[in-house]
Amino acid sequence: MATPMQVGTVSVMPGEVKRGGIPIGSDMYRAEREIPIIVIRGVEDGPRLWLNGATHGDEPEGPFSIFLALQQIDPAKLKGTIVACPVMNVNAFTAGTRGDPLDTFSYDMNRLYPGKANGYPTERVAWAHWQAMQDTCDLQIAIHSGGEHSYLAHMIFAADNPQSMELAAAMGPGWKLVFRSGTGSGNPSSMIAGAGKAGVTVELGGNCRTLTSDFHAVANDLAAGYLNVMRHYGMIDGAASYEPEWYQGFQIPLLAPATGMFVGTKDLPFETILPAGTVLGVVYNLYGDPIGEVRAPRDGLVFGLRSRPSVTEGSWCCFFGVVEQTVTNLIPNR
Ligand SMILES: [Zn+2]
Repeated sequence: MATPMQVGTVSVMPGEVKRGGIPIGSDMYRAEREIPIIVIRGVEDGPRLWLNGATHGDEPEGPFSIFLALQQIDPAKLKGTIVACPVMNVNAFTAGTRGDPLDTFSYDMNRLYPGKANGYPTERVAWAHWQAMQDTCDLQIAIHSGGEHSYLAHMIFAADNPQSMELAAAMGPGWKLVFRSGTGSGNPSSMIAGAGKAGVTVELGGNCRTLTSDFHAVANDLAAGYLNVMRHYGMIDGAASYEPEWYQGFQIPLLAPATGMFVGTKDLPFETILPAGTVLGVVYNLYGDPIGEVRAPRDGLVFGLRSRPSVTEGSWCCFFGVVEQTVTNLIPNR
């Protein structure tokens, strides 16, 4: 006999889809607050996949891509369980800001995992989320984007263990950039990897791409990755596809050399190796004179670029990726 699986307020049996939440305290209206979750438990056992969106409230790609992916799941044909958490940081999402504007002291929810039971407001939200996830998760995908001020191309930050590298590779075609990140603290991916499971943070989009067809294209691209992951781990039918090789390396943030308006180079390609010295963008003063350039500091690729032109000296302009190695062995026995 199967036993119920409990996640937050949700108790789910094989073949069931249930909605509920992870309790996080009450609000000024005396209502109990919850992080919304949707749990889809397949008829057969298998991996437990968590899809975590909107840790940052100005990144709607997570929730929309989760909605699109779940539309394609039939619990009667699913092996394993999907726990979808479209919006982790509801206060931040309500405000459309990166963090909860009511929480000055623990603003960035993606830096403070596992949180604290008796901590600042966002630390408590993170703690509740982590408590619900830690024993009910084998595979975790946290979904991010450039948010309000930038665009991010396909990039995966995979926690530095073999399980997470395999999950990154399972995102499939288009996800060639897989950089290693830490394990054991800070964000949900590092925490779940610290527990010996798989955790990745995927990046795609930004508010410069949230209009109509373009937003659908970004969200569909992400959703295709989650479905490929489910095929790779045998959760749904069909053969997964993969990149033939992956780029690993590190990022260098490039900062504005002058105060004014930053404009990226016309037709600048993302995710493409460029030679050192390539002009990535120009800063203009308010008379229209070019007063500074942002150049590739060495051979490498652009995976993130500022989409809000106003800059002061030192403002972030570009995430530049340096590729240290090309690997083909992220999936064991393949
Ligand atoms: Zn983010």
